[in-house]
Amino acid sequence: MTRSQQLFEHAKDIIPGGVNSPVRAFKAVGGTPRFIKKAEGAFIYDADDKAYIDYVGSWGPMILGHNHPAILNAVVETAQNGLSFGAPTELEITMAEKVKAIVPSMEKLRMVSSGTEATMSAIRLARGYTNRDKIVKFEGCYHGHADSLLVKAGSGALTLGVPSSPGIPEDFAKHTLTLEYNNLDEVKQVFAELGDQIACIIVEPVAGNMNCIPPVEGFLEGLRDVCTEYGSVLIFDEVMTGFRVSLGGAQQHYNITPDLTTLGKVIGGGMPVGAFGGKAEIMDYIAPVGPVYQAGTLSGNPIAMAAGLAALTEIEKGNFHDELAAKTETLALGIKALADKHNIPMTVNYVGAMFGFFFTDIEKVTTYQQAINCNQDQFNRFYHMMLEEGVYMAPASYEASFLSAAHSDELIAQTLDAVDRCFAKL
Ligand code: PMP
Repeated sequence: MTRSQQLFEHAKDIIPGGVNSPVRAFKAVGGTPRFIKKAEGAFIYDADDKAYIDYVGSWGPMILGHNHPAILNAVVETAQNGLSFGAPTELEITMAEKVKAIVPSMEKLRMVSSGTEATMSAIRLARGYTNRDKIVKFEGCYHGHADSLLVKAGSGALTLGVPSSPGIPEDFAKHTLTLEYNNLDEVKQVFAELGDQIACIIVEPVAGNMNCIPPVEGFLEGLRDVCTEYGSVLIFDEVMTGFRVSLGGAQQHYNITPDLTTLGKVIGGGMPVGAFGGKAEIMDYIAPVGPVYQAGTLSGNPIAMAAGLAALTEIEKGNFHDELAAKTETLALGIKALADKHNIPMTVNYVGAMFGFFFTDIEKVTTYQQAINCNQDQFNRFYHMMLEEGVYMAPASYEASFLSAAHSDELIAQTLDAVDRCFAKL
């Protein structure tokens, strides 16, 4: 028995499924999740001391690679002064100003402790601001596990076959209208019928929780126009895309201005952080200025702020995002070329430093239905072969993959060599 197997058996006695977040349990791909002991740069090391080139990056935050010295130093230094005060600090102003400078549509913002909190709060705010109950989301998009949003969701909810979770009263779920991603006609139809009851559209501007699906041309522009026409709030959930598809996120990449934005992952540099913000007029509906309540004991936590600020400061330097995007393209196109070489039907999608590959003969994957009809069995076999090769990818085919600045050209070449060997055996 490996140490990971021992730990997994032990964990299952005391933690449901042995994990604190479902996808970690390897249920989709089978086998034993690797228990991780430490991580450095592009590598993670499991409890059996095996090293893996990591393309999960803690599901997005580790855009600089693991254990980056600037983040580590910021955390250690800030911790000397105390871990949490539950009172405002200057660091929070610095953080808010830094985020606003990078994402100018966030005229005012508030820090929270997770992506789930960010989207949950943004939805409540949009409802309070518009005085409307209904919200629009898209099938296969995941926005965290708040009740209104766990309806036809992606990511682990989709992987585990519970896209709409029990425990969410029908009376809540009925206010969530779930439409097809990249289908603007459907959005227009629904708004023509119910537009004056719809508080907001929440969308992943590049979907990353049903593998990686970029918006088709005109989709995001269309959502912007519809929201403007009907007085609904457009929320870009940039928890995943923020600071990743470009420095200013998908809204900068596609040049569309949402009313509200939610952030997470990179903004915390690996600490538990999220944020939501947008038009000052809407944000001023939040307590204590306005009537919509939202709060958090650990919100704006100094250690988390220090880690996040250090991360944002590093990624602003030089041509960080261009270089990361170029490496991502090399890897994505490299995988596709190897699939062609081995006659394996495959499509790749990538935007900035986010990519996904689909075992399918469909030329361009743009919809949820196409994404879920890919060859899962082939993915699962490939997954385990890659693990053996020392390459760690997301343990489910419905997840996007991430590169970090620590993934050197050499490591990408090594990864492609491993892919070549695995495809030969597939
Ligand atoms: N929104 C998106 C787009 C996400 O990808 C995620 C998490 N993967 C969330 C929200 C929820 O964030 P958290 O897991 O930090 O609650």
